[in-house]
Amino acid sequence: MRDEGHSMERHILVILPHPDDEAFGVSGTLAKSISEGAQVTYACLTLGEMGRNMGFPPFANRITLPAIRKKELEESCRAIGIQDLRVMGFHDKTIEFEDQEQLDARIEGLLKEVDPSLVITFYPGYAVHPDHDACGAAVIRTIGRLPQAKRPPVHCLAFSKNCEEVLGKPDVVNDVKVFLKQKIASIQAHRSQFQAAELMGNGKTKEKELQERFGRERFWTYRFS
Ligand SMILES: [Zn+2]
Repeated sequence: MRDEGHSMERHILVILPHPDDEAFGVSGTLAKSISEGAQVTYACLTLGEMGRNMGFPPFANRITLPAIRKKELEESCRAIGIQDLRVMGFHDKTIEFEDQEQLDARIEGLLKEVDPSLVITFYPGYAVHPDHDACGAAVIRTIGRLPQAKRPPVHCLAFSKNCEEVLGKPDVVNDVKVFLKQKIASIQAHRSQFQAAELMGNGKTKEKELQERFGRERFWTYRFS
């Protein structure tokens, strides 16, 4: 296990399918990297427009949800400090059925343009939601086609029940306790999806408990064989 306290990234490319995917798993890491001088490009494949949550109490409907989630995503990015958000315009809940060539070509275009020093995505097969797995698979497929020397490292988010059993312990564990404020603001930005106040214990949860719950972010470096 290595702690990333000292590492300096030049440009991180984050590729995830849904607005809010960034909030729990990676927002602290990104806020930290940005504070250390890294650039971040976040490519969000969809607007999560098929989401079932419409706010608590509901304030969105099927028609207004995409625009609302886009605003929430932008607010989350502001909270984290991300300046380069790409809304990729794929359809929510159907990433696995997208034309693979087209999806891969868009990802390849991003890789060429951004020339990232690190890519963050979901670990295909260990990310629970079909969109997560399909997104991760497309990223791995596309990077896997690059010559070995040109492949950026890929840090994957995994949270299926068996992920540690199969993949072992995460090899990258980032302590983001100092960036809890940004992380919580990122989570709170997605108000149509989460009852953030409840998640945070309605103000009754002690700072220490929040740090325990949200203070570390875990990644598995993908090993291309
Ligand atoms: Zn998601």
